[in-house]
Amino acid sequence: MIQPLVIANWKMNGSYAANYNLLTYLLPEIAVNRLARIGLCPAYPYLAQVGQRLVGSPVWLGAQNASAYSEGAHTGEVNVAMLRELGCEYVLVGHSERRLMHGEDDTAVAAKFAAVEAAGISPILCVGENLAECEAGETETVITRQVMAVIDQVGIDHFFNAVIAYEPGWANGTGQIASSEHVQYVHGLIRRLLRDRDPYIARELQLIYGGSVNPTNAIALFQQPDVNGALVGGASLDARAFIAICDALEQAHRHALAQGA
Ligand code: PEP
Repeated sequence: MIQPLVIANWKMNGSYAANYNLLTYLLPEIAVNRLARIGLCPAYPYLAQVGQRLVGSPVWLGAQNASAYSEGAHTGEVNVAMLRELGCEYVLVGHSERRLMHGEDDTAVAAKFAAVEAAGISPILCVGENLAECEAGETETVITRQVMAVIDQVGIDHFFNAVIAYEPGWANGTGQIASSEHVQYVHGLIRRLLRDRDPYIARELQLIYGGSVNPTNAIALFQQPDVNGALVGGASLDARAFIAICDALEQAHRHALAQGA
């Protein structure tokens, strides 16, 4: 069975003091006896601080973005070798906020995915329709285009260590969550797209949902067969809420194991 995964996206939040306090509450609860794999993605300036606190714990470090370039005259960019050196095991690629607010198109996202994967880091490929596309009934078209753009540019073999996060732009940070049926429908679609190219990768790849997940709505979400975890933004800044989301995922996973799923 696929290992459940929860990734915290702290976005452009935090400070040394705030991170210290959050980790002090969080780590004793999430770094023990967990069925789920848990990762934290702080902003770049805090990767070293958080990474040092994670040494010796089973919690993984991730970054929110990476450059597709390897080095040189790219002011303001951070390459994958730097992220590797800081201990990052995951990098978010193509987050809806990068696509919507920073102009990242499918080609740019695929180039970043390739750079991250080549560095031995797991790319978390974020895909999702925006509000206008959702209202126009274009969800399936958009998801198919975004997933296939990376498969076609990079190759399905390079998805072996990847994760895909379905993150509808209209649900990110808005408090508006997609229904669990809708999420299952999209995750099922992504699983089918992968299966057409490689049945093994389709069976093993972690598919997580992101968009206003909280301890209450997480329960129904995690009961869906193709939802293997969550990418959590706002609620990951609240230690109690984040722990409750991890607990809900593990409870659903134990239930599925007991049912022989
Ligand atoms: C995100 O932006 O990655 C995210 C999941 O945000 P939120 O949970 O705040 O919607």
